[in-house]
Amino acid sequence: MIIKGKKIWLNGQMVDWEEAKVHIISDTFCFGYGVFEGIRCYKTGKGRAVFRLRDHLDRLINSGLVLYLNITYSLDELAEAVHKAVGANQFEECYIRPMVYVSSYYESGGDFRNIVPDVAIAVWDWGHYYDEKALTGGIRVKIASYARHHVNVHMTKSKAFANYLNFVLARGEAIRAGFREGLLLDINGCVAEGAVDNVFMVKKGELITPPLTHILEGITRDSVMTIARDQGIPCREEFFTRDQLYVAEEVFFTGTAAEIAPISEVDYIQIGDGTPGPITKELAQLFFDAARGKDKTYAEWLSPVD
Ligand code: PMP
Repeated sequence: MIIKGKKIWLNGQMVDWEEAKVHIISDTFCFGYGVFEGIRCYKTGKGRAVFRLRDHLDRLINSGLVLYLNITYSLDELAEAVHKAVGANQFEECYIRPMVYVSSYYESGGDFRNIVPDVAIAVWDWGHYYDEKALTGGIRVKIASYARHHVNVHMTKSKAFANYLNFVLARGEAIRAGFREGLLLDINGCVAEGAVDNVFMVKKGELITPPLTHILEGITRDSVMTIARDQGIPCREEFFTRDQLYVAEEVFFTGTAAEIAPISEVDYIQIGDGTPGPITKELAQLFFDAARGKDKTYAEWLSPVD
């Protein structure tokens, strides 16, 4: 469930939530031509702080670049705008959605280099994406019949709106079959990623996650790998198949919305004893300690708002 914010930052102005609109025949509405980010702001001992803000904005700018969309705001200006958007909405913790989109139509002719895209930053309270019970008990996941885009079908490193039809189809299929989330394979049949998350498995105490070839370069993925290595937990990137996942000791998702979500079952096969494993639980605890400023080792990941 989402609790919407009051104000949205829109091209430098704060506007009411209901007033941030886009024309029905805009190129973004019709073709999904645009990019976005998902960021979280956490409550720390020193007030609110945005988690890895500059890394998210860097990815946003690069998402635009690979689609020939030139965001006219600098990273510093975008960071300030995110702070304003969070400041204008009085949530203790919130999800932040910067969006870069094209409100014009038939002007680009397919070449967006000279189009000045709009930028909006919406903020809402999303709580835990997979709910508290899922975080403590684990979620049931289904391998999707839809493959993750080949790298030359869509730009897989760009968080483009259009990419998400693929993920929504995968999730919808999983939910219709009684699962909580879909997990997509790449076109070679190796495990790629979830609909809004990267995936990890634990084998013989070692953490394994797919390489970046076909997937989004997750910032939570990077945080978890950094934390794991700092703890002396070996971690490597390697392609693996769905049956290797079925027999893993532990499996979990990482993502800004999803945070660290233990997976209890894949395609009706129980993972481990069906409850979150020790490495998943340890990494989740360390991740939340970092995000909420309890572990000073990762203080540079926090961008204080208040
Ligand atoms: N893969 C996909 C397809 C996603 O949408 C997301 C969410 N942004 C992720 C992975 C995880 O990325 P991050 O940890 O940066 O949120």
